[in-house]
Amino acid sequence: MTAPVSQAQSLHESPQGLDSAVLNPDPLLTALLKGDRRALAKVITLIESTRDDHQVRADALLNSLLPHTGGSLRLGVSGVPGVGKSTFIEALGLALIDEGHKVAVLAIDPSSTVNGGSILGDKTRMAGLSLKDEAYVRPSPASGTLGGVAEKTRETLLACEAAGYDVVIIETVGIGQSEMAVAHMTDFFVLLQLPNAGDDLQALKRGVMELADLVVVHKADLDPQAAALAQSQILAALRLTDARDTTQVLCLSALCPQQVAHFWGVVQRAVAHQRECGRFDQRRHAQNLTWMWDLIRAHLMTHFEKHPPVQAALLSTEQAVTQRSLAPGAAARGLLRLFTHLPVHSPP
Ligand code: GDP
Repeated sequence: MTAPVSQAQSLHESPQGLDSAVLNPDPLLTALLKGDRRALAKVITLIESTRDDHQVRADALLNSLLPHTGGSLRLGVSGVPGVGKSTFIEALGLALIDEGHKVAVLAIDPSSTVNGGSILGDKTRMAGLSLKDEAYVRPSPASGTLGGVAEKTRETLLACEAAGYDVVIIETVGIGQSEMAVAHMTDFFVLLQLPNAGDDLQALKRGVMELADLVVVHKADLDPQAAALAQSQILAALRLTDARDTTQVLCLSALCPQQVAHFWGVVQRAVAHQRECGRFDQRRHAQNLTWMWDLIRAHLMTHFEKHPPVQAALLSTEQAVTQRSLAPGAAARGLLRLFTHLPVHSPP
């Protein structure tokens, strides 16, 4: 039993315990911790890079900055294209800066992983906020699987926190798994909805509303009556589902500063309540564990699929399963045996 404990300790200690790193801190890290935006951009570029040497440097930097992370409020914002996310985030971000906050906006854009295009990654969005010294607006990493993009965003979030951003907004569009990814890396997840019952039911069907801590019926200025109706319909629908009965529904418009301020008040009160009852910490702890296990699963799968004996047997095994000459369970066990009984080679 002692070996695993000491291994765990050495893993645990490595972020801060490397004397040389303490005596000779990476200048990039020093600049990042002072809030230097160019240093932050460089660190994020390293995080997003697929080059092995960049990955090694990014990992070392991330380990060193870990003690300086965790201090922000992590806010998730999702909604279909056109619902007004960037208008809302810009209005909120500018109001928060006026209050003395430093705001980072990151994006997870599932479209960039599917076709290389981008719904969110356009730098011209939030032009006013981008110009502010107290804001850092970063488009989504441009490629990779959603899991990979989400992974980079989680690490970028840590870099932003270490650089002193105390509100980090992570934005995504209402497509596929990206909302789940954002809900699982933020303290408070907000779903923007159009005042249109059809859309509301869509989100409910997809199970996204259950992820939300707060549902916002947005662009309420266009038709206040329709917005109020949508609000009561969403509330009624939420009460019928398994959603937490604490989920609130607000009507607002990004064009109305008082309503944006009211939104922030609601978020602050809800987060304060979560902190008091211990849910805030529980959620972060669970998220850290999920993060670790997601990575382990992803890496194991990569090693498994690239393991030469598995690769050699895969096609014939799959054929045997589809032709029903081999039971799926037996096939899985056979492949796993190949993987675990033979020396595991690193994937190229
Ligand atoms: P996104 O695709 O979700 O980021 O949506 P945008 O923020 O780009 O907004 C889409 C359109 O809706 C733009 O023309 C905005 O000016 C407009 N818009 C955004 N928020 C509001 C709002 O609260 N009220 C009104 N009337 N229009 C809005």
